[in-house]
Amino acid sequence: MKFISTRGGGEPQSFIDVLLNGLAPDGGLYVPEAWPELDLERLKSFAGAPYSDVAMEVVKPFIGDEIPAETLQNILRKVYQDNFDHSCVAPLVQISPNTWIMELFHGPTLAFKDYALQLLGHLFDYVLEQRGERVTIVGATSGDTGSAAIEACKGCKNIDIFILHPEGRTSEVQRRQMTTVDAPNVHNIALKGNFDDCQNMVKAMFNDTTFRNEVNLSAVNSINWARIMAQIVYYVTASLALGGPNRKVSFAVPTGNFGNIFAAYAARQMGVPTKRLIIGSNRNDILTRFFETGTMKSENVEPSLSPSMDIQISSNFERYLFDLLDRDAKGLTKLMNSYKDNGSFSIGSEYMAKARREFDARRCPDEQTKGLMTACYNETGYMLDPHTAVGLYAGMQVREDPSVPLVALACAHPAKFPDAVENAIGIRPPLPPHLADLYNRPEHVTALGNDLNTVQYFVLNNIKK
Ligand SMILES: *Cc1c(COP(=O)(O)O)cnc(C)c1O
Repeated sequence: MKFISTRGGGEPQSFIDVLLNGLAPDGGLYVPEAWPELDLERLKSFAGAPYSDVAMEVVKPFIGDEIPAETLQNILRKVYQDNFDHSCVAPLVQISPNTWIMELFHGPTLAFKDYALQLLGHLFDYVLEQRGERVTIVGATSGDTGSAAIEACKGCKNIDIFILHPEGRTSEVQRRQMTTVDAPNVHNIALKGNFDDCQNMVKAMFNDTTFRNEVNLSAVNSINWARIMAQIVYYVTASLALGGPNRKVSFAVPTGNFGNIFAAYAARQMGVPTKRLIIGSNRNDILTRFFETGTMKSENVEPSLSPSMDIQISSNFERYLFDLLDRDAKGLTKLMNSYKDNGSFSIGSEYMAKARREFDARRCPDEQTKGLMTACYNETGYMLDPHTAVGLYAGMQVREDPSVPLVALACAHPAKFPDAVENAIGIRPPLPPHLADLYNRPEHVTALGNDLNTVQYFVLNNIKK
């Protein structure tokens, strides 16, 4: 399978090039040249098979023979059998008639990002080993992504990773999940500044060509195609568990960046029978406003109970827009330029009618988030994290036909957001056993000033030569 840029530039690329490069040189995002079709009848026969076997079927058409099948299978087994604390990897828990929670918090950092990043780390390491190369990954985080990237790279022989977080501005659980990792290739930088300063610092390092080449700079950001690919797998396992391919399922997904819900769309394009794909937004509702009005427009980011969705730019949305416009790269580039120049773009009513047939979107303000966390605990005993509550709320708003199973994605463990959970149900959720001593582990972090030279000097001095 080859991959093309949504902006139409360059030649089609191989999976490995797309994995290593992330963003296309013309500023677009890579998408598969065509959507492959899954053999669902064959997948049905996988009932009871390990998650990694289903994963193999899902990723195979994208990777082709670029990684030998046996190697790939071994990587998938290692990732999903060794690094997740539930033997089902992405188990379904029923909370009411025909309503399920898909728990995506059984990885090392308790958020769904592990499901993709754990695989990415192993794929990177394998490809680099084959090429005899080494990369330096730098990233900025306000919380979840940084710890998931660190956990994904900590055992990798050919990667040094530097994660910048704004000093004093992440939650204690989130900071400790990053800083308590003790590995020679992992470097935490507490930058004296805010999250934007961290992001700008990363950008400045990438823009410095000499530095970029000297340390072979790379990123594992949310637009990497391989992350989407890995996230398709759990939509397939959920469908199969609930009667697929002979029965349609609806998915409710809390999303800001459009990453996780795009993976649901990809699963549908590959043949997974889905009824509704439901987007849950918090008060930062750029996506919901788009589906209501046909206009995508950034506004200021407001803090909410579900901080991992406090964003106003939905970077993965470009991938869907490309399909919505019947893969018209020129038309898409115009819209993206308008967005860059004016902070907004609008879509005609015919296309919007199609978009509304393909997705539903609902907003869930903090009051409703907290209300649902309380109600769900009182009625079922199940603890929702605030992000999960946003998705479930949207799902319940949209649901019409109770005979269609509704699967709400639990994107984080409640213990990751203990204050919000305690506030809603009066109980502080305990960390799972593998993190129970998190507050006693020593931290490894270097505080640095918000100055490019200082940070570059630190990177140069700490990479393995
Ligand atoms: C990252 C994250 C999200 C948002 O994911 P998208 O990439 O925007 O789909 C939602 N919930 C949690 C807990 C997250 O960590």
